[in-house]
Amino acid sequence: MNDPLTGLIGRWQFLDILRDNAGKADKQNINLALLVVEIKNFQRINLLHQHTTGDRVLQYFADVLRQVGRENDIISRIGDRKFALLLNGIGSIEHAKLAAYKIHRLLETTFQFELTEIRCAATVGIALSTDNAIDPESLLQKAELALNQAKLSNQSIGVADSPGNDTALNELDLEVELIPALEDFQLKVFFQPKISVTTGLPSGAEALVRWQHPVHGLLGPDKFLPIAESAGFLKPITQWVLNTALRLSNRWTDKWGNLKLSVNIPTISLEQADFIDIVQSARDLWQKKDITLCLEILENSFISNTSSTFKTLKELQALGVKISIDDFGTGYSSLSYFRDIPADELKIDQSFILGLRNDQANLKIISLIVDLAHSFGLSVVAEGVENAEIVAALKQFQCDEFQGYYYSRPIPAEEFLIWLDNFQPDNELIS
Ligand code: C2E
Ligand code: MG
Ligand code: MG
Repeated sequence: MNDPLTGLIGRWQFLDILRDNAGKADKQNINLALLVVEIKNFQRINLLHQHTTGDRVLQYFADVLRQVGRENDIISRIGDRKFALLLNGIGSIEHAKLAAYKIHRLLETTFQFELTEIRCAATVGIALSTDNAIDPESLLQKAELALNQAKLSNQSIGVADSPGNDTALNELDLEVELIPALEDFQLKVFFQPKISVTTGLPSGAEALVRWQHPVHGLLGPDKFLPIAESAGFLKPITQWVLNTALRLSNRWTDKWGNLKLSVNIPTISLEQADFIDIVQSARDLWQKKDITLCLEILENSFISNTSSTFKTLKELQALGVKISIDDFGTGYSSLSYFRDIPADELKIDQSFILGLRNDQANLKIISLIVDLAHSFGLSVVAEGVENAEIVAALKQFQCDEFQGYYYSRPIPAEEFLIWLDNFQPDNELIS
């Protein structure tokens, strides 16, 4: 019988279907992946709000899973706060992980129930039929075990019996090591310059965080920010980067006039009640007169919780802080938000710029984005400007700034001082 609340099939029926699918998959030599998805903090949601809210959360989860599942995939509610998603005929474990990431990404959007704004999160356990037994009960058991292991190590995704478990262990190590890393000055701020297209001169730099790990060497943000996020360290790291970047920008030369310092701000920090105070006190402490602070916000952040995000950003703008929309073109934003968006700058995602060489369609996309941004009064940064060929191809558009390896990779603060001092104007660019 279907679960009356979510309309999904129940555990027993699911096991029957799983058995059936497992048999077919075995014959056809295809893979099955089983994802067990558990709602985090469900008790708390029920305690804080009413049970009707808990019911809505269950329906919301069912909808999220329906969005992730494809036509032949099976979704079931297998427990109080547990769901299963059976992916039929997938290529590898990476595809199953992609589905898990998609679930997490969809859950990043808050949903409104009556007057309450609710944010949900999940833990996902994954088992693959080729790596594990094809017997349905043990496949389910393995996925549940992976889920429990993920919960124990505070990860959002766990994979059963796979070589991936080594990385999970690593991630756990990194998570533990992140606490002293902040205290022992192992985190570093690197800078990557931006060049003004109109003058050919440096217009500022973006601060990009790195972890100088004592054993693993220099780690990029993709290696540790997701771990920091799941461990709850993203807010303190953001605050540290903001203060450090502003402090370091004090030493930038004034020979190129006013320079812009850009700092990446994750959605979670924007939602912090005291975020504006944090920014203002960092500026009071460190900001030099001829430096303009610009906050880079991922396009995706504008989609969730728009009204409160817009309010925060408007207040920051009123204080003289610039707002930039980062990685534009990769999110799912609706064009209507351009009407009221509190932003000053738009950064075209580097995938379009890097794709310039071999895809004419990218030219059209870039041209559309530049026109759109300019018509709403936003300046445009092209990032991922890797080589002279891309610079030449970009000349036909009216971008305002360029950023990329062609000018400089992200470099340590000391090196950036030298780079700024020794910079030779790019006459090619302005001619
Ligand atoms: P982003 O903000 O879009 O930063 C640009 C990324 O593109 C940087 O990667 C930069 O090194 C890379 N990049 C720059 N020029 C080129 C180029 O010409 N070609 C190619 N292929 N890549 C180029 P990075 O430093 O690894 O940072 C990745 C992402 O991590 C950033 O993307 C940003 O979203 C995030 N991130 C970095 N630092 C911070 C931080 O302090 N706080 C937060 N919340 N996120 C950060
Ligand atoms: Mg950025
Ligand atoms: Mg970007």
